[in-house]
Amino acid sequence: MSDAIPAGWKSEDHVLYADASRQFLAQEVSPHIERWRKQGVVDRELWTKAGEAGFLGASIPEAYGGGGAPRSFDAVFFYEHARTGDSGWGVAIQSIVSHYITAYGSEEQKQRWLPGLASGERIAAVAMTEPGCGSDLQAVSTVAELENGQLRINGSKTFITNGQMANLICLVARTGEVAGAKGVSLVFVETEDAPGFRRGQNLEKLGMKGQDTSELFFEDVRVPESNLLGGSGGHGFIQLMKQLVWERLLIGVVALGAMDSMVEATASYTKERKLFSRRLFDLQNTRMKLAEAKTKAEVLRSFIGDCLERLDRGTLDPATASMAKWWGSQMQCEVADECLQLFGGYGYMAEYPIAQAFSDARAQKIYGGANEVMKELIARSLDV
Ligand SMILES: Cc1cc2nc3c(=O)[nH]c(=O)nc-3n(C[C@H](O)[C@H](O)[C@H](O)COP(=O)(O)OP(=O)(O)OC[C@H]3O[C@@H](n4cnc5c(N)ncnc54)[C@H](O)[C@@H]3O)c2cc1C
Repeated sequence: MSDAIPAGWKSEDHVLYADASRQFLAQEVSPHIERWRKQGVVDRELWTKAGEAGFLGASIPEAYGGGGAPRSFDAVFFYEHARTGDSGWGVAIQSIVSHYITAYGSEEQKQRWLPGLASGERIAAVAMTEPGCGSDLQAVSTVAELENGQLRINGSKTFITNGQMANLICLVARTGEVAGAKGVSLVFVETEDAPGFRRGQNLEKLGMKGQDTSELFFEDVRVPESNLLGGSGGHGFIQLMKQLVWERLLIGVVALGAMDSMVEATASYTKERKLFSRRLFDLQNTRMKLAEAKTKAEVLRSFIGDCLERLDRGTLDPATASMAKWWGSQMQCEVADECLQLFGGYGYMAEYPIAQAFSDARAQKIYGGANEVMKELIARSLDV
């Protein structure tokens, strides 16, 4: 099924990487999805196994223990992962955080953190959202005050992916007196050396049951000033805005993987299911709905392929990445709804993958920036 990878930009190496990804995922992810959904978190060993196999650091520079490949290789892995139907493993966060460090980290920071992210010894989280602030990140209230060469952190975060397991947290905090964007910085917290750091609840969610989306608390947590990304404060908002391009594109990539998986499963189910003396697949409505879903996936595939090409060339702009995020997640939710309908009552049963895909899809319109925020960013690009 290598053809399912967005065409256009893919090289022979991408195809080989997709084959290897599928083999790894078939062995290490697919058999465990149900168990992870019950335990609310994936197994710790998954991270190290993926690290050993080279899937965590594909796009981390070789000098820091990675594969030195363009990010489109990570995209191939995330696409294949989404196709398995697993939504528990927050593996994409690893790549997001790696690229914050690659782009803005000092040499010392790169050497300290990137090899562990590539090997799976370190598990990353991005902690932006707070109980009182999500979309409006400039209003962040967690503080990291400079005190005798250390940053003293106080505040709380919520809805943090990998929250129960992460041991390297990229924290959005206010470091200066300056209000708004200019007072925001990214501070890295190594949780093993952080008295005062506490993990809260692994939150009960509508979907994504295997993901440890959690609260995090910081009470007088002290980290060295050198944990400030890039070495000086006040650049966090700009760093976020630049790197969110990658996060938003990969939400579109995940949407595509999920859509391909749903279309395939629904086509297969409707060919098996008999009613009115024929296959459900043979009813005209079924054929039209599946044709629509397939078209949505193919249109998204072309767009994602175009975005990935631009990403690897360094020309993907925030408005275009926002389009991939909102359009991809919107199409994913529409396809999930139509496919679930074709499963009838079975589609509503929690044990059915289509029911899980339906509830998993819903979060895609919210995280990484709500889709309304995406549209605002796109509109701004028209208002010049
Ligand atoms: C499963 C899951 C995983 C997550 N993982 C992470 C993570 O790892 N790290 C992290 O920091 N956060 C994470 N989040 C949080 C997520 O990023 C936020 O929920 C999201 O940014 C929205 O913030 P909010 O929930 O505070 O909603 P609010 O900011 O209160 O927004 C509520 C609603 O208001 C509307 N709205 C917002 N802004 C605008 C606007 N400009 N124009 C018009 N309408 C608007 C939208 O409909 C939006 O959904 C996760 C969330 C979920 C559900």
